[in-house]
Amino acid sequence: MTKITRKQRTRRLSVRSPAKKPARSPKARLGGGERKGAKRASRKSKSTKPKSAKPWTASEVREAFGRFRKANPEPRGELEHLNPYTLLVAVVLSAQATDAGVNKATRKLFEVADTPQKMLALGEERLRDYIRTIGLYRTKAKNVIALSEMLIRDFGGEVPRTRAEIEKLPGAGRKTANVVLNMAYGEHTLAVDTHVFRVANRTGLAPGKTPLEVELGLEKAIPAEFMLHAHHWLILHGRYTCLARKPRCEVCLINDLCRWPEKTV
Ligand code: SF4
Repeated sequence: MTKITRKQRTRRLSVRSPAKKPARSPKARLGGGERKGAKRASRKSKSTKPKSAKPWTASEVREAFGRFRKANPEPRGELEHLNPYTLLVAVVLSAQATDAGVNKATRKLFEVADTPQKMLALGEERLRDYIRTIGLYRTKAKNVIALSEMLIRDFGGEVPRTRAEIEKLPGAGRKTANVVLNMAYGEHTLAVDTHVFRVANRTGLAPGKTPLEVELGLEKAIPAEFMLHAHHWLILHGRYTCLARKPRCEVCLINDLCRWPEKTV
């Protein structure tokens, strides 16, 4: 029989010992696609979050958003839609997909189905044919039909105006609700997608480990006068300037204010 030394015993024990439970993050009610997006965004936080950046002062935040406003006074979202209902459908379809890809499919879809009633008349099978170029289209078609039924049954065919009610719709979560409330009803909500998450963490404007943490930090930091458009300014900044792999710091409007130690200017 082989003799087990003390060193070997320790090694065996350490292999068996249970892994530590991860710290629990704040709860956010997110749709299926949004949950995956949130996980991905959280994983990225390690590389984007400044280690011990000095928090932004109120006047720096005002200065940054003043520059965004001057450069683009009326920023627009890039998801094409005709009314609150088609916006809701487009946002639900956009989980794990690009806006351009969704627009390509919805241009034809919304010509025949721009209300919940018309969507039900179209039916799940034909809806699938319109959106089959979008990832997860089977699940998304099911959700769009189910949310259309719920809108007719519970909300008189209209998209509701509260976050809690929108979150009840199949396929919709907090991010969907924030986009719809902001773009369709002009509410001061702020949806945190992968671009907003990256910009908020890199710049140090609202560092956070989860999209919800970042959202609450941004709400606290951004003055009310900028909140209507803040969501789009930050998304567009992340999409076209503060790119994930190669941020264009040399042309960045806020490069003097950004706290990211790896910025290139
Ligand atoms: S300076 Fe660079 S890292 Fe900072 S916000 Fe601008 S593009 Fe992003």
